[in-house]
Amino acid sequence: MTTSPVARHVQSIPRSGIRDFFEVVQTMSGVISLGIGEPDFVTPWHIREAAVYSLEQGHTGYTSNLGLPRLRTEIAAYVQKHFGVAYDAQTEVLVSVGVSEAIDLALRALLDPGDEVLYHEPCYVSYSPSIALAHGVPVAVPTHAADGFALRADELAARLTPRSKVLMLNFPTNPTGATMERAELERIAALCQRHNLVVLSDEIYSELTYDGGSHTSIAALPGMRERTIFLHGFSKAFAMTGFRVGYACAPVELTEAMMRIHQYGILCASITSQEAAVEALRHGAPDVAKMHGEYEARRNYIVHAFNELGLPCHKPRGAFYVFPDIRPTGLTSQEFSLRLLKEKKVACVPGTAFGPSGEGYVRCSYATGLAKIKTAMGLVGEFVREVATR
Ligand code: PLP
Repeated sequence: MTTSPVARHVQSIPRSGIRDFFEVVQTMSGVISLGIGEPDFVTPWHIREAAVYSLEQGHTGYTSNLGLPRLRTEIAAYVQKHFGVAYDAQTEVLVSVGVSEAIDLALRALLDPGDEVLYHEPCYVSYSPSIALAHGVPVAVPTHAADGFALRADELAARLTPRSKVLMLNFPTNPTGATMERAELERIAALCQRHNLVVLSDEIYSELTYDGGSHTSIAALPGMRERTIFLHGFSKAFAMTGFRVGYACAPVELTEAMMRIHQYGILCASITSQEAAVEALRHGAPDVAKMHGEYEARRNYIVHAFNELGLPCHKPRGAFYVFPDIRPTGLTSQEFSLRLLKEKKVACVPGTAFGPSGEGYVRCSYATGLAKIKTAMGLVGEFVREVATR
């Protein structure tokens, strides 16, 4: 065959920059990784026990396509309590295979070919490819260190066209830890209403908001519930990445559309994971609080350490990432990450893995024990001093 059998829109999708980087990491031994975007905590025992008990009871079948009714009831109660948005558990909640599947369902449910999807950048690596795979057109809206990487309504407004259909938001943000001030979020909500945009609000880090601050979902602002798909899951706050369970909440018409795609493509999320998720929502709050406390202490340490080294690092108010500016070293983000890995065996992710506006920065995760973070920062210090004297 002379031409590739692979669909053109799939051929055009680049491989994840993070995956490529970690293939190099895997060939090395003794690396301290600040690169991983998942909790270093094992899922709390009572949640794992619920999964074990589910298996012991012989619960090994499919569930309803939308998910276990009692899980949907818990999700609706949780979202109402923590975000102040009411969804009907029977018709407006869909349990998915992680937020990853929910993002894909939402985009495929909404997009006709050529529709434009705006998202703030640097952003989670899957957004642009997921949009392209759903035949949409990705439109990046740059964010800036001077604004703490929050999205500015004027930057968004400047990129709206008659084909703009969806806005993807993720606060706190992967990779920058950015959060939004309510006043700016209100300006963004007003733009969405004026331009008839649907919002996908990826809330996956919302429990991990620090400095005593509270998180506001755009879905909770007046006039936004009806035009928002609220996406959330268990991977980060409950340390349940391997369970692969998340959810989408949205008005009936949108939930029904996502359900049709989910029903034929996936059928349902694993029952074992769904039963563990019920336990997480019922009794997991103390675990979330404990991990939150650990993350906040690590964040305080690592932000201070980068600034001490002369690499300016804004203090993110959420998630478990810092995004220091490495331009004082004179290296690109790719050079910095590769050389730090080869010369000091410390892994961090080049900012460009999260979009071109990530150039000049690297992402370091503090979902790693404090002792390891301290050792890693000592090595980063040696590296920065050696680069400066070469
Ligand atoms: N959204 C963001 C912003 C993420 O950072 C991640 C994972 O890193 C996901 C979604 C995927 O989450 P899940 O494990 O629920 O599929």
